[in-house]
Amino acid sequence: MKQQICILGATGSIGTQALEVIEQHPDRYEVYALTANNRWEMLAEQARKYRPAAVIIANEEHYEALSKTLEDVPEVKVYAGKKALNEIVASSEIHMVLTAMVGYSGLEPTIHAIKARKKICLANKETLVVAGELIVKLAQEYHVPILPVDSEHSAIFQSLVGEGDNEIEKILLTCSGGPFRLFSYEQLKAVTAADALKHPTWDMGAKITIDSASLMNKGFEVIEAKWLFGVPAEKIQVLVHPQSIVHSAVQFADGGIKAQLGVPDMRLPIQYAFSFPERLYLNGDRLDPFAKPLEFFEPDVEKFKCLAMAYEAISKGGNMPCIVNAANEIVNEGFRKGNCSFLGMGEIIEKTMQRVAFDAYPDYDVYVQTDAEARKVARELMLR
Ligand code: NAD
Ligand code: MG
Repeated sequence: MKQQICILGATGSIGTQALEVIEQHPDRYEVYALTANNRWEMLAEQARKYRPAAVIIANEEHYEALSKTLEDVPEVKVYAGKKALNEIVASSEIHMVLTAMVGYSGLEPTIHAIKARKKICLANKETLVVAGELIVKLAQEYHVPILPVDSEHSAIFQSLVGEGDNEIEKILLTCSGGPFRLFSYEQLKAVTAADALKHPTWDMGAKITIDSASLMNKGFEVIEAKWLFGVPAEKIQVLVHPQSIVHSAVQFADGGIKAQLGVPDMRLPIQYAFSFPERLYLNGDRLDPFAKPLEFFEPDVEKFKCLAMAYEAISKGGNMPCIVNAANEIVNEGFRKGNCSFLGMGEIIEKTMQRVAFDAYPDYDVYVQTDAEARKVARELMLR
């Protein structure tokens, strides 16, 4: 039987690469539902090509235009809005949900998908940054597997295959270092969004590309790893590895280290999340082991304050990572629009952390309130 897949964020970098994977394996996978936020024209094109049962445009303003365009393909139902997203993931026909939308918006539909017992292929790391504890508990309660799509976490997951109850001594989480790895503090003062959007090794959506330049992305990935693999942050070491070949590694009690290597290609972790425990053919480049030497460096948390803020949020716990995520979404967008400097991002996040009420034991409603409050505070600080 073919696996029916719902892609949340189908028009993005991960979403479109997931569609490529599905297209390569028509005997195994079928698209059941596709969603997007604003890019309704592209969503309409995808609907024509893949003929899903449903498409959902999160931003209701585009409903008219989308449904009109798709009038001649009546088998594709068109819906709009957040409620429709939450409902579609629970459709009985769906086997897996790929969460590939950006930011906090991933949390609610992921909760609905878990409650409907759908296998989660998780690209939207912000879901675990905001509410990791809640999501992990819910997944256990509903016996739902969460398969990582993030390349580092997929590498860790792949390294753990066959290890049973063997304890993880340490996770080695690799990081490209981003485009400003060798910049001085003085140089960082003047960098622009256009500079930051030129990532050296990966081609990704705008938000995560900025997070990669500020190293906030790596901080988020430490939080993501903590929840996915049940390992405390102290046992997760970030290694700057500019070649992006070693995608991450796990060290065990005997000192042995297992890693997953390959050329940077997100289709591999996407496909592995779909096909685990099987490995399927992937028509990508193969690693040339002679091409470049592999290097590893310590990250500089003085220069990259966002990474330091993420560590602080982890050690505080509670709703602090949620505060950091919300503030980061504001400054990340602000930086892209020229309303915030590169170094200003870390400063505003730090101040937001000090100003929003801390809650050591948040429930879902607390996360919702925290997110709204932290956005408001960060926005005020930024536009001052
Ligand atoms: P992107 O910006 O390219 O695409 C985002 C997708 O989400 C689009 O389809 C957009 O329409 C949709 N979307 C955005 N806001 C939404 C909202 N409020 N409600 C509903 N849908 C919304 O982003 P991306 O690079 O594909 O990243 C997606 C997620 O995957 C992020 O959480 C990112 O951190 C994670 N991720 C991406 C990569 C990568 O290589 N791109 C790697 C690892 C993890
Ligand atoms: Mg990653």
